[in-house]
Amino acid sequence: MKKSSKRPREDDTEGSSGKEHRRSPSSSHKSHKIHKSSSSLSKVREKDSKPALGGLEDKDISGNSNKAITTFEGMGLKPTLLRGIYSYGFEKPSAIQQRAIKPIMQGRDMIAQSQSGTGKTAVFSIGILQSIETNSPTVQALALSPTRELALQTCNVINSIGDYMNVKCISCVGGKTKSKSISSDIKTIEKGVQVVSGTPGRVHDMIKRQHINTKSIKMLVIDEADEMLLKGLKEQLYDIYRYLPVETQVILISATLPKEIIDMGSRFMADPVRVLVKRDELSLDCIRQYHINCEEEQWKYEVLCDLYTQSSNINQTVIFCNTRKKVDWLNNELKKGNFSVTSMHGDMAQDEREKVMDGFRSGGSRVLITTDVWGRGIDVQQVSLVINYDLPTEDQYLHRIGRSGRFGRQGIAINFAASKDDIKTIRAIERHYSITIAPLPANFGSLL
Ligand code: AMP
Repeated sequence: MKKSSKRPREDDTEGSSGKEHRRSPSSSHKSHKIHKSSSSLSKVREKDSKPALGGLEDKDISGNSNKAITTFEGMGLKPTLLRGIYSYGFEKPSAIQQRAIKPIMQGRDMIAQSQSGTGKTAVFSIGILQSIETNSPTVQALALSPTRELALQTCNVINSIGDYMNVKCISCVGGKTKSKSISSDIKTIEKGVQVVSGTPGRVHDMIKRQHINTKSIKMLVIDEADEMLLKGLKEQLYDIYRYLPVETQVILISATLPKEIIDMGSRFMADPVRVLVKRDELSLDCIRQYHINCEEEQWKYEVLCDLYTQSSNINQTVIFCNTRKKVDWLNNELKKGNFSVTSMHGDMAQDEREKVMDGFRSGGSRVLITTDVWGRGIDVQQVSLVINYDLPTEDQYLHRIGRSGRFGRQGIAINFAASKDDIKTIRAIERHYSITIAPLPANFGSLL
């Protein structure tokens, strides 16, 4: 049952900002030097068995949660919700769903260490849909995400799984678009909405101005909590939390559990169920990972063009750069070279961001160049190749290359190195995740 001694509403001021590799873009790409070190497949760790659902098996999940429930029927869900789950295409719950959905249904707070790709969005979406009263038009659940794209995606998942339930989830994200402004959000909420999926800034603003009435809220989901902290969104989370009823059930999802997350958990939650995916099992197993030693920044572009030509039969590709400026530069260069690409980053207008996302999701565009704004949580199932044009940090690596190989599907990641330091970074990533990032074999095209 629900706790009474929950959380003193404390002030908290500390914030933090994300770290970023920076390297200035090169404008020269005259050399035709192509992946010299692309010679050996020998060290590649090949997957030898079919991946488990969500890339995880029961043994990979630990914590203090109840035992696994291996079917959706066995969970005691509302029939209309069950129908929505099956219509959405899910047949069997993933490992984390087997453990986490039931305790959420029982009203328990939860801290789940899980990265995207394991089925965690459905965990809280199903939890929310099970708990809300559809005949009441008031906001009953809040889901917070670190990026607009993720908030929109979560909103879509909730509306799709809740398709047979007469439920409405609305997205509240910053930035005005032609089709959707803050005033249209306000009107929609006034007409009756049960779930809000948004970014902390906009949601806080809507609460403060009393456009979202928090009185009936009974569930708060904080998705990608570690990323929220990295983005300096901690204060906004605490501000939102202060408006919520004391007995609000809190579900906190985070790929990693640094001290700040644990602290947040202990302030927001009472005796939470913990579902922990062991670090080693935050799996990169389904993704074949390679590197190309381009030797110098200026040669990366030619290498990329060569890859692009070879990978014409690949589904969809995401190319990551470390800066917005580099994304723009690469986008322009590739377009000048008659390659069909799209790009997206945080400086672009929300309208434009949504248009690019829609085009990429629908398969209208095959290659997306972006920054780490896309590195977390975004789910486009057809992405099977990720190229790190610039290398990420060790932590970000997992999130970026997790864009391919979603939910146990096979994917390929290729990392560009342009200096000795880059090679060192690749070695550090290999050590961090106990993986091998082999040189890309010359017959790359035949691997696809
Ligand atoms: P997430 O971890 O929420 O980012 O989900 C990763 C991907 O797994 C998404 O494409 C989901 O649609 C998919 N997924 C989640 N749960 C299931 C399930 N039980 N069966 C099949 N696919 C699933």
